Amino acid sequence: MNPVMAPQKTRPAGTVATAPRAARAPRREVDDRTAREAGRDTVVSARGVVKRYGTGDAAVAALRGADVDLRRGEFTAIMGPSGSGKSTLMHILAGLDSPTEGSVTIDGVEIGRLKDRELTKLRRDKVGFIFQSFNLLPTLTAQENIVLPLTIAGRKVDQRWLADLVETVGLADRLTHKPSELSGGQQQRVAVARALVGRPAVLFADEPTGNLDSKTGDEVLGLLRRSADELGQTTIMVTHDAHAASVADRVLFLKDGEIVQDRSRMTRGEIYDVMKSLEVQR
Ligand code: ADP
Repeated sequence: MNPVMAPQKTRPAGTVATAPRAARAPRREVDDRTAREAGRDTVVSARGVVKRYGTGDAAVAALRGADVDLRRGEFTAIMGPSGSGKSTLMHILAGLDSPTEGSVTIDGVEIGRLKDRELTKLRRDKVGFIFQSFNLLPTLTAQENIVLPLTIAGRKVDQRWLADLVETVGLADRLTHKPSELSGGQQQRVAVARALVGRPAVLFADEPTGNLDSKTGDEVLGLLRRSADELGQTTIMVTHDAHAASVADRVLFLKDGEIVQDRSRMTRGEIYDVMKSLEVQR
């Protein structure tokens, strides 16, 4: 069963107040265990995240206190009008940028406490990225690009996992090709495989279909959906495309640096309506 869907263990209300003193000790244990279990289900969490750029009159608040828990195996889309803080939130959740105030935890580690080298290592080991512009190295083949993060980290390639991934992304007959010999959709599929090869705790995708036509964009979205369903891959995608967001399990809407709606799976039409209302309110 998906752990997110597992029924929560709750204590019947009222038992605490009437319990004799001696019987109270185990209650803490239950509470602690419940807290630990809740913690396990959360892969990325943000508390009171504020991001300000500049100072004084020129200061811009890109985020005004974001609180969010992103759960294991969940595919979340971040939407909002241009300038609402989507990229800033994603960069901060991924440990690429630091908040002015507040804290971010990735896979149980509060990243604000890490030294630069530790943060680099955490990002390398726990986080996968997919960008709008693919960001493949042009001189390397598809296969070399896919295993590059492991090569850089000096980690061994799990050949079975690599073969599974290559099969899943449908690139078996393209592995020796350079990026310039691949279509946009194929290049993005290489980028997806590269992001997943190290089995990251969380995958961040920044407008992953922004440079693709709708058919190849759908292939990439289908791939992200399958990696969430079949591999339990926690995924966070920034997009301005209602169709892309409709593939996600959960949609966060930002406006003026705040998360104004947090919704579970929505249709394209529902997402479009929320976006329209947020644009109108500006
Ligand atoms: P979105 O991704 O939703 O378009 P951003 O996160 O890029 O929004 O930006 C949110 C706000 O922060 C915008 O007002 C933007 O102009 C501002 N901003 C983003 N990055 C910087 C920066 N490096 N310096 C100054 N202002 C910035």
